[in-house]
Amino acid sequence: MQTIGLIGGMSWESSAHYYRLLNEGVRDRSGPTASARCLLWSFDFSDIEALQHRGDWDALTAHLVDAARWLEAGGATVLLICTNTMHRMAGAVQAAVGIPLLHIVDPTAEKIRQAGFRTIGLLGTAFTMEEGFYKDRLSEQHGLRVLIPGDQDRAAVHRIIYEELVAGKITDEARATYRAVIARLVDAGAEAVILGCTEIMLLVRPDDSAVPLFDTTTLHALAAVDAALATP
Ligand code: GLU
Repeated sequence: MQTIGLIGGMSWESSAHYYRLLNEGVRDRSGPTASARCLLWSFDFSDIEALQHRGDWDALTAHLVDAARWLEAGGATVLLICTNTMHRMAGAVQAAVGIPLLHIVDPTAEKIRQAGFRTIGLLGTAFTMEEGFYKDRLSEQHGLRVLIPGDQDRAAVHRIIYEELVAGKITDEARATYRAVIARLVDAGAEAVILGCTEIMLLVRPDDSAVPLFDTTTLHALAAVDAALATP
């Protein structure tokens, strides 16, 4: 089995799910006492979030590159960035190490394509919904048409992630807001919706949506299990 290096803590609420999903995935495939070989680098998310909102992407890139190098030096043979937003610097991270980085968009898009969907809604942080690094990979590398919520809906989705979900706060009010945003994406033509922030799965369930939801946390973790078990 390969050793999975997790760049996590962004937030730890979702990293905890990654850890569970990796271990359950290996157990399902390899037997009841089997578990994932992994290393976790867990940031203090308050540092990360402050740099994000200050727009200091150079400092964030340096932090992620450091983490990736430590994980590689510690024995990781495959790497995950356990957040959608921080895939903004996926290219720099991959360039800094000699082990493969499993990009969160790829297993997500593959499942969407396999299910036959072409037009998809995207929920995530404002960085993920508005900047090119995520949407462009979905469209240019995977041929998907991406719809994002309107201005007010994006602001609400972003606010709930940073003020509530990363702090472990799950409320019916926030769920109702997400349900309404998803419904508007469906009205606009979304055939499915990507939960493109690793904490949204803590809040939103399949029955909150009229169309299928593609949860990046689960799909990314399961792709890592595949990669870890694929080669000795
Ligand atoms: N975990 C979130 C994501 O998947 C947001 C936290 C972050 O900005 O990294 O984008």
